[in-house]
Amino acid sequence: MATQTARLLKRLRNDFQLSIITLMGLFGVIGISPYAVYRLLNGNYLVGIADTVIVFSTLFAVLYAWFTRDTVKPGIYLAAVFSVGSTLIAINLGVNGLFWIYPLILFNFFMVTPGKALLATSLVLACLVSHALLVPDSVFESHYQMVSFLVTCMMASVLSFIFAFRTRTQRDQLQLLAIHDPLTGARNRRAMNEELKIAMASHRRHSDSYGLLVMDLDHFKQINDRFGHHVGDQVLVAFVELIMRCSRKQDRLFRFGGEEFLLLLPNTEAEGLRAAAQNLLSRVANELESPGGPVTVSIGGAILHGGEHWESWLQRADECLYRAKSEGRNRAVIADTPSGQSKTTASH
Ligand code: GH3
Ligand code: MG
Ligand code: MG
Repeated sequence: MATQTARLLKRLRNDFQLSIITLMGLFGVIGISPYAVYRLLNGNYLVGIADTVIVFSTLFAVLYAWFTRDTVKPGIYLAAVFSVGSTLIAINLGVNGLFWIYPLILFNFFMVTPGKALLATSLVLACLVSHALLVPDSVFESHYQMVSFLVTCMMASVLSFIFAFRTRTQRDQLQLLAIHDPLTGARNRRAMNEELKIAMASHRRHSDSYGLLVMDLDHFKQINDRFGHHVGDQVLVAFVELIMRCSRKQDRLFRFGGEEFLLLLPNTEAEGLRAAAQNLLSRVANELESPGGPVTVSIGGAILHGGEHWESWLQRADECLYRAKSEGRNRAVIADTPSGQSKTTASH
């Protein structure tokens, strides 16, 4: 029970969108249901039904988000329901209902992308103004009040838009920085651990096949020693560009250590992995250059086996890399059976 609660709290802490949707669920039940009951008891059925729909929609969206882990669809759904509900309430109650539009503006920016939130707010304002013009004195008490309301709502929307847009851009940049190596642009070790775990889970659940290549540049220290660290860096960048060009879109390249890289190949069997390793080996030998001449790479590879932990998979590929190094470098060794039989191919 205690661990269950701890797990739920951890999800709330880690998933901002889920926590906002849950908070709105609490607001919906605690804050809006008394209004719904009050309106229905007083015979104001339109507002009463709008309030009730909002309460149940919120509960439904919260449960959907918790069970499916999808917070995008519930976010759009809630933004739409709250926008329509608030518009109906404002039309029905007039000035007393207009106050709800201000929290609605903020709410939408929490629920959906800044562009969608701005669109939703614009539609709400357009509906209110159209209704007010068609039925005078229904929503606003004067034109002056309508204009003041529009201007203050627009100010709140534009400021929220700028804030939401800036936060989103910064969050995306932070996410990018957190999983990429700044020198080469390859994904970093943290991202690698995550993706290997995901691969292991997807292999267990759906039997998806995965291949792994561990690549280590040959005699790289000599390049640094002879031409300087800066030239070594340029070779690393050129290596990553070359591997990105040679691999498929679904393959993932990670910088594992200094001059060691890892390529994760989804939907790949032993034969495909061997062919990919051979292709990379010859492309690097033919196209990667340092001022001292061609640069080569050694590769160790392994296919993920059923029930295997990702660390043991990585270790098998690493052991093959050691063999490739000790057998003379510029070659690939792929382990292709659970017993560890392996096959070596050289690029020349
Ligand atoms: P081997 O063929 O056995 O792999 O030999 P090696 O010289 O490539 O391997 P070793 O492990 O002896 O040296 C790796 C070198 O990589 C040492 C380290 O200074 C260098 N290195 C690690 N990270 C970077 C980096 O970010 N930039 C540069 N320029 N060099 C780096
Ligand atoms: Mg090396
Ligand atoms: Mg190394």
